[in-house]
Amino acid sequence: MPELPEVESARRVLADGALHRRIVDVDDHDDYVSRPHAPGELRSALLGRCFTAARRRGKSMWLTTSGSDGDGGPDLGVHLGMSGIVVVAPPDETADLAGDLVGGDYRPDRERFVDHGAYQRFAVTFADGGGVRLLDPRRLSRVRLDPDIEALGPDTLGLSPAAFRAALTRGRRVSTAPVKARLLDQSVIAGVGNLLADEALWRAKINPARAVDSLRRAEIDRLGRSLQGALTDAIDHGGVHTGTVIAFRRAGERCPRCGGPMVSGTVGGRTTWWCAREQRPVAPDQPATG
Ligand SMILES: [Zn+2]
Repeated sequence: MPELPEVESARRVLADGALHRRIVDVDDHDDYVSRPHAPGELRSALLGRCFTAARRRGKSMWLTTSGSDGDGGPDLGVHLGMSGIVVVAPPDETADLAGDLVGGDYRPDRERFVDHGAYQRFAVTFADGGGVRLLDPRRLSRVRLDPDIEALGPDTLGLSPAAFRAALTRGRRVSTAPVKARLLDQSVIAGVGNLLADEALWRAKINPARAVDSLRRAEIDRLGRSLQGALTDAIDHGGVHTGTVIAFRRAGERCPRCGGPMVSGTVGGRTTWWCAREQRPVAPDQPATG
């Protein structure tokens, strides 16, 4: 599933190649991917406009538009779902790819379906002949006008240590929640998915099930730094699956740092892996209770 790094990579492809080109055609025939809009609704909203910026908060991405009269047009939300990818064709029609290129059974056929346009769920054509296509074999992606992003917390990428600490510990009501559940809560901070959370907690040597209340300030700051490091590495290396501990999230594996056993459980409703030796349930200098 695309996490923040995959969405950021798609956003950069759109920012680099899809802006300031006049839209002359829109394929919005898929009324499931385009729900709640009826076929033709996105087309009439976008025809004649240009995309002016590609923005992202967490795993949500949207394109701003402008009209020929200079007024701003609607925003076009693009959600990649589990397996959506974005293809931008410049005027010379050399396709560029971004999005979640891993984990899908379509991957060996990537060239084929890009070349032949299979799995096309939404597309715009520019006046210069190129365009943008959303391809998705599983049809779980979504395109919609003016997506609501107000419920999302601050974007994780580039979050300062102080802002991370404030977001994580805000609100007494949820302070006993497992730290991993808090990381996954998109209204707390936006963009952390299951793999990224496991990678960041492993880097910080913090047990995923520990209550937020039990974390010392130094641990929270370490987690914030680990999260930023895991994020930038994932963006640089092509996705969250490239994280240091990700390949070791399997029964019988050993921690790639200390050689301790990797163990799993359900935390925050998600399958979670951690190092039994370094990610202890309580901090080393805290007495165990109960
Ligand atoms: Zn370890």
